[in-house]
Amino acid sequence: MGRLDGKVALITGIASGIGRAAAMLFTAEGAQVFGVDRDEPTGQALAAALQADGRSFHFFAADLANESACVQVVEQCCAVYGRIDVLYNNAGIALIEPFGSTDAAMLERVMAVNFKSVFYLCQQAIPQMQRQGSGVVINTASELAIVAQPLYTAYCASKGAVLSLTRALALEYAKDNIRINALCPGPIATPMLQSEFDQADDPAQAKAEGIATMPIGRLGDPVEIAQVALFLASDAPALMHGAALVVDGGKTIF
Ligand code: NAD
Repeated sequence: MGRLDGKVALITGIASGIGRAAAMLFTAEGAQVFGVDRDEPTGQALAAALQADGRSFHFFAADLANESACVQVVEQCCAVYGRIDVLYNNAGIALIEPFGSTDAAMLERVMAVNFKSVFYLCQQAIPQMQRQGSGVVINTASELAIVAQPLYTAYCASKGAVLSLTRALALEYAKDNIRINALCPGPIATPMLQSEFDQADDPAQAKAEGIATMPIGRLGDPVEIAQVALFLASDAPALMHGAALVVDGGKTIF
């Protein structure tokens, strides 16, 4: 008996980091997963590995930075699996840039991937959940939707927008038995975070400084976020609507 038996989960950003961990955990818990990423070779390889293990996983390649791709993603998920029980918006990108040199193209890219894709995927998937009579949406914000960090202005703004969107949607659709919550990870050891360290003059020192902000004395593991997403996706948190789940090893209370 898996905790997601019989459920169809659409997960974005499955080729790396937290999304990859979630695809592996959700399929292990019995979900049929429709996984989306712009990285086609890695997504296909993950699909082959999971299918060889007898799990139900369908990969769809898409760049979520445009609305038409988001429309296609939901259409294709419904075409393959016939429903969407869980929409887990996980795909995202980082931007480390001084505010003054954050140009229009950088701002547009961060907002398109981190915020607008969440907006459009919710807009497409929620009517399907209404027809089904239930659904769960998990939107990935960040600890940086709650606290701030210099050089992350556009990223912070994009994640703050995800959190506000989540709360507004949760209110609008609670009556339809659709639970919409935000997940706010702290520093998690993924390729995204490593590439942020690598942009520093001294990457090893940047990593040590990152770890020093963590009361637990280490970075988070992607599966530790996937486990919380699994809880949100399951039937257990029936009363949770519009919550911001901070999962950060205590960083934001430090
Ligand atoms: P990651 O870079 O390891 O993985 C992100 C995945 O999203 C990649 O496979 C990438 O190809 C995909 N992706 C990016 N842009 C895309 C697009 N336009 N279309 C389709 N796919 C796209 O990152 P991660 O660390 O696993 O982060 C996952 C989520 O968690 C992100 O939303 C990130 O902002 C958030 N987050 C991460 C951390 C952290 O410390 N790692 C902290 C807080 C929040």
